[in-house]
Amino acid sequence: MTARVIDGTAVARRVREDVGRGVAQLVAAGGRAPGLATVLVGDDPASEVYVRNKRRLCVAAGMQDLHRHLPGDVDQASAAALVDELAADPQVSGILLQLPTPRHLDSDALIARIPAEKDVDGLTTANAGLLAQGRPGLRPCTPAGVMALLDEYDVPLAGAEAVVVGRSVLVGKPMAQLLLARHATVTVCHSRTRDLPEVCRRADVLVVAAGIRGLVGRDAVKAGATVIDVGIHRGDDGLVGDVESDAVAEVAGALTPVPGGVGPMTIAMLLANTLTAARVQQGLAD
Ligand code: NAD
Repeated sequence: MTARVIDGTAVARRVREDVGRGVAQLVAAGGRAPGLATVLVGDDPASEVYVRNKRRLCVAAGMQDLHRHLPGDVDQASAAALVDELAADPQVSGILLQLPTPRHLDSDALIARIPAEKDVDGLTTANAGLLAQGRPGLRPCTPAGVMALLDEYDVPLAGAEAVVVGRSVLVGKPMAQLLLARHATVTVCHSRTRDLPEVCRRADVLVVAAGIRGLVGRDAVKAGATVIDVGIHRGDDGLVGDVESDAVAEVAGALTPVPGGVGPMTIAMLLANTLTAARVQQGLAD
């Protein structure tokens, strides 16, 4: 068996096109084009690449690029003042603080200043609480992108066994909650889990977000399972994920590639969240 390839690049393109149409409709209905304020602190090369891509695709979808760059040695009070300024600016629909910030800054405290309705990364405690209670809110982009991929490929979720490897605030926890909201039976694994392959083999849907290259091999995958690889590692041989893709493709039913799987979906969902935020703020939500 060779797993079906889940083409995140193609699905992300369609999501971005939908967002572009939604932006045009918003403007045609008398609204303002959504504005995305990415905030980059310092000059980390990987973060610069991520932010550049977000800005480029934001403009391509017809949104305003309201990017701000702070020096790497900025103090907490000045960074907080910038977040407050963006929070108060009606042109700004969404604020995205690029993580990680330099170590001397308290990024949790900065995120806490982002109003929930502009929190397009879905990382504030308000949006996390809404998700935990199954109420509408802005969802974290990477897990939301995984859900969009599962839906696009008609992966059954109600009653399915879903295993999430990783319990970060950014990916693992919201991922588990989104799957639970769709009536999957969800197990969350983490660094203290005993016998990871054994738990993973239960999964009809296996989402791996541990940040460890090649953590999940074919011994951890049930025949026919859908495997979503969130991990990204930059090696000499290009980008690879947390899943041993060649071996797992022989047993899985479907698998996301790295690159070209979850990565492009994250930015697409950021744009979708920014459009949603703008519609709500402008009273033009459908
Ligand atoms: P993180 O380091 O915050 O969390 C990793 C999680 O994995 C932790 O909860 C930890 O308990 C768990 N873990 C660690 N070792 C484990 C083990 N041996 N067995 C089981 N669980 C283990 O990382 P994160 O922010 O959640 O990101 C995870 C990966 O996803 C990283 O590779 C990151 O680069 C990638 N990522 C990709 C995207 C994307 O757009 N594709 C977005 C965010 C993160």
